[in-house]
Amino acid sequence: MKNFFRVALSLGVLTCLVLLERKRPLRRERESKLRRNGRNLAVAALGALTVHLLESPVVGPLARVVGRRRLGLLKLVTLPRTLEIIAAVVLMDYTLYLWHVLTHRVPFLWRFHAVHHVDLALDASTALRFHFGELAASVPYRAAQVVLLGVDTESLSYWQMFLSLSILFHHSNVRLPRRFESVLSWFLVTPRMHGIHHSNEPVEANTNWSSGLACWDRIHRTFRLDIPQEQIHIGVKGIDTEERVQLPKILSQPFRGVPEVIAFLRDRNAD
Ligand SMILES: [Zn+2]
Repeated sequence: MKNFFRVALSLGVLTCLVLLERKRPLRRERESKLRRNGRNLAVAALGALTVHLLESPVVGPLARVVGRRRLGLLKLVTLPRTLEIIAAVVLMDYTLYLWHVLTHRVPFLWRFHAVHHVDLALDASTALRFHFGELAASVPYRAAQVVLLGVDTESLSYWQMFLSLSILFHHSNVRLPRRFESVLSWFLVTPRMHGIHHSNEPVEANTNWSSGLACWDRIHRTFRLDIPQEQIHIGVKGIDTEERVQLPKILSQPFRGVPEVIAFLRDRNAD
């Protein structure tokens, strides 16, 4: 899939979500949306640069080698092409579920992933807000996914497309009709599901780890959709003022021992 098409589709979906967020918000804002979005876009710009400089030069060539030399699980069997691409997307999605659990369990990774979680609200801009350190740390994992699963260039680009659209959607602050959302949550991760994952209560946050297909949470019994969004405090407990989440603070956060971030991990792992 051409890069241009991917970027255009993502921007189109992002625009629709931003319009819907204004029309049908799911949760109340806790600080100026403009300031929050600006901050998230600044983190996103550093992230995009990291992907451009570190991830693409490693993962892109590896996917080409996988295709040329038929390496990895999916290349061991000869599947019809469409089926192979679907299997690649599903397997990448499942292994991303496992990576997401790791980013919450391994202290070094949590330090970086916590930057995504200290956002005081949740909307489509949060989907773009991943610390450059987290993106850099994920490169060896992504490389292993591609090589071991046997994901070639075309399959990789379908998965990247699916993931970008899915994370924009489930981070968005869009109020979907409740019944529609509960049916949809059998298939895809939805905004209410992911809102629970961003709760500052460990027992609530230790759920809904999926990033695309919701079945992984159903299979692992980590699925929850029973907490009303009005009852959820988004963020990391103890970090609840705008002053604590300003841009320089969140960028340096992984390199400082922030007690609330460390305590949140301890409470989650104890849960
Ligand atoms: Zn998370």
